[in-house]
Amino acid sequence: MVVGVLALQGSFNEHIAALKRLGVKGVEIRKPDQLQNVSSLIIPGGESTTMARLAEYHNLFPALREFVKMGKPVWGTCAGLIFLANKAVGQKLGGQELVGGLDCTVHRNFFGSQIQSFEAELSVPALASQEGGPETFRGVFIRAPAVLDVGPDVDVLADYPVPSNKENAMPEKKVIVAVRQGNLLGTAFHPELTADTRWHSYFLKMMSEVGEGTSSGGKGTSSG
Ligand code: GLN
Repeated sequence: MVVGVLALQGSFNEHIAALKRLGVKGVEIRKPDQLQNVSSLIIPGGESTTMARLAEYHNLFPALREFVKMGKPVWGTCAGLIFLANKAVGQKLGGQELVGGLDCTVHRNFFGSQIQSFEAELSVPALASQEGGPETFRGVFIRAPAVLDVGPDVDVLADYPVPSNKENAMPEKKVIVAVRQGNLLGTAFHPELTADTRWHSYFLKMMSEVGEGTSSGGKGTSSG
């Protein structure tokens, strides 16, 4: 079994190392025709504007959209989640190209800048083992996005309570930080930066469930 890992920028090496710990080979993808050699793909965290510019330079967007539309399993972590969203808001430069397919709106820097990065215990029922193993996962959030809304076909796998903000009188509310829609998985945090491989195992299981059969996707747009 091999898994493609988009290797333009960001934490692709860490994803490949996590896959290796599970006995799976991760293949670096930098050019459109390399996507033909893999049946699933991980889009890593990093910096989505930079990654989008590099993807444009390598003419990767049409092939990535086709990959998603064919129903092949794709997992985006952090900047990768932004890539997969149908809509992204909160961009400084007024828009960037997205792959799209995941029916949701993502706020690119919902949790703030680098110094607002944090770790948090998340409750993730989808990760609970049949033996009753733990369902909590320590999420690493780095300049992290959040999902603001989801369409009817999207399952929410984890959310995170944002503390109330006394300055602007915002009450505590939950934002979505992990989603799945058929062949597409998105996490706002970075499982590849932890020693815990349960999300990678989840994606491998998803690959065997989904095969290459379902269909999803569409062109993404961005604004903000
Ligand atoms: N917020 C970042 C972006 O817009 C993503 C951060 C990350 O991948 N760690 O690209």
